[in-house]
Amino acid sequence: MHSKLDKFPEIREPVRALCGRYTGEYWRKLDEAREYPQEFVAALTQAGWLAALIPADYGGAGLGITEASVILEEINRTGGNSAACHAQMYIMGTILRHGSEDQKRRYLPRIATGELRLQAFGVTEPTTGTDTTKLKTTAVRKGDRYLVNGQKVWTSRVQHSDLMLLLARTTPLADVKRKGDGLSVFLVELGAAVGKGMSVRPIRNMMNHETNEVFFDNLEVPAENLIGEEGKGFRYILDGMNAERILIAAECIGDGYWFMEKAIAYAKERVVFDRPIGQNQGIQFPLAKAFVNVEAANLMRYRAAELFDRGEPCGAEANMAKLLAADASWEAANAAVQTHGGFGFAAEYDIERKFRETRLFQVAPISTNLILSYVAEHVLGLPRSF
Ligand SMILES: Cc1cc2nc3c(=O)[nH]c(=O)nc-3n(C[C@H](O)[C@H](O)[C@H](O)COP(=O)(O)OP(=O)(O)OC[C@H]3O[C@@H](n4cnc5c(N)ncnc54)[C@H](O)[C@@H]3O)c2cc1C
Repeated sequence: MHSKLDKFPEIREPVRALCGRYTGEYWRKLDEAREYPQEFVAALTQAGWLAALIPADYGGAGLGITEASVILEEINRTGGNSAACHAQMYIMGTILRHGSEDQKRRYLPRIATGELRLQAFGVTEPTTGTDTTKLKTTAVRKGDRYLVNGQKVWTSRVQHSDLMLLLARTTPLADVKRKGDGLSVFLVELGAAVGKGMSVRPIRNMMNHETNEVFFDNLEVPAENLIGEEGKGFRYILDGMNAERILIAAECIGDGYWFMEKAIAYAKERVVFDRPIGQNQGIQFPLAKAFVNVEAANLMRYRAAELFDRGEPCGAEANMAKLLAADASWEAANAAVQTHGGFGFAAEYDIERKFRETRLFQVAPISTNLILSYVAEHVLGLPRSF
């Protein structure tokens, strides 16, 4: 569906054309079989879209976050699911901002061409959850390598990635001044790690999302794969959060428009009691309300992206955009199910699949409560609650 807020037709149109080759049927079959969209991700990579944020000097397109967000929005807006590949776009930012020149030259051009996939990001742990600085995975330096021990959970796309960015504790929590100190980021080459100190156990979940438990038992990571300085990893990860929030907001907005388009079309064509159901205000109003909220979230997304691209602080806007967009896509999803009546639950309409997919954004990559907490503390100046 059309929105007056749509910008960058030169990006939207080719991305939409590419995504158009991967229909609802394609995604539905993968969903049923719980398979990874290999072909789609390969096509997107070959076309260069996943390298949007890699600077031209390192072989990427050198675009801004606004353009990158339009790419992911379009994937979701055409019925696909960016979660299969979105991390490739933003986690490379940690290497770009904090890696050495040698690391950037070694990895970024090959990520840009698709020769190497950087899709996996290991932060969350089963026992500590959102309380990231308490994570228990340790990396202890032994000569020219680190020995990693511990466990991660919900590490997505490991089975379809060559590299994983890993956050681990290098100095015990008891020995640091601030709880965010003493954590470090490593680039793990998965080919050399899986089966040799690292094991992966897939988690069957609500959606077709390739995500895993990961276990480390004396995994050796070369010291040269430490990104930036030892002990500063938590700050490096936080630096990438605004980009992640804006990109995820755009995916939610893509979902929101997709639900609207499907629901509006169905409301016009479905005749019950001798008139289209869309003539009833009981059907119209939830759709109108959801549309208002998707458009409002979209404005906040563009505002956050604009600030980000100008290099200005955008933490508040990026977080607010993520929250508004996740709420709006969920509202649109509910309205679309209701509009479709029983068919909202039938797999062949794709509504139920997208409904499950968009539900995730209330929880991951950051839950709604944690965003409210950020706004309360950092924007409203209320006392810290934890
Ligand atoms: C499909 C999927 C894919 C994922 N992919 C990745 C990935 O690739 N890499 C990765 O590192 N992680 C990933 N995650 C993890 C995700 O980021 C976490 O699930 C999310 O951050 C929430 O953490 P948690 O599950 O540990 O919940 P918890 O921290 O246990 O929180 C549970 C609930 O309590 C609420 N809560 C907790 N503390 C407070 C508080 N102080 N005040 C109010 N409410 C609170 C939370 O908001 C949440 O609703 C993924 C998760 C899923 C489900």
